[in-house]
Amino acid sequence: MIDKNTNLLVVSAHAADFVWRGGGTIAKYVKHGANVSLLILSYGARGESNALWNMEGQTLENVKSTRHGEIEAAAECLGVKDIEFWDYQDYHMEINNERVERLVHKIRKVKPHHILTHGPKDAFNPDHETVSKYVFDASVLSTSNGVKLEGTTTVKQAQIFGFEPHQSEISDFKPEVILDITETYERKEAAMNCFKAQPHLIDYYGWKAKMRGNHARRCSGEKEYKYAEAFTRFFPYVGGEFI
Ligand SMILES: [Zn+2]
Repeated sequence: MIDKNTNLLVVSAHAADFVWRGGGTIAKYVKHGANVSLLILSYGARGESNALWNMEGQTLENVKSTRHGEIEAAAECLGVKDIEFWDYQDYHMEINNERVERLVHKIRKVKPHHILTHGPKDAFNPDHETVSKYVFDASVLSTSNGVKLEGTTTVKQAQIFGFEPHQSEISDFKPEVILDITETYERKEAAMNCFKAQPHLIDYYGWKAKMRGNHARRCSGEKEYKYAEAFTRFFPYVGGEFI
């Protein structure tokens, strides 16, 4: 059950990843009262802003500023208020010990039950794979008593879920969790429309949400599921009963 006691941390490698791949789910968590923290590691200025670079006289600072505005607008569509921008360079994104500790600190502060981020394999996007490992490492370290960071205490292991990559089959993606987003699909659509730098993706992810909706209906028998998002999970489901 999603409620005010649920903490969800979303870690997005680039500006819009969280919207294409998890926007409906994020909006659903917000709608049901969860505490949603959004962390944007980079603006995707070098690797995921091609349309903006076609403009004459374009600068890195201007691309970042445009993307910053788009992210804020999209987050507002989804209802997310807690956003941090870390402004790492993308393509390639480099992770060192200092950056791992920074994320451990963040995880210990947010105390997420669930972390939504990139899955381990993405055939065409090395940054997504880097971030997947980065989040996994920091999440595991956040539970360890020996990893001492001032002002923090250890947290329980968060359940980590991976976004569906852009090229699903080529990245060996297989849905392990499918979430119905019918009630928040309009919010996702509004958020997708905030990203003028990647107009070609809006139709693509609309189609994908419908396709996953079809899978959601087939796997569950619930006819009212129209739109869905698919994820992988990093750890097995653990509980007292089958769900
Ligand atoms: Zn990305």
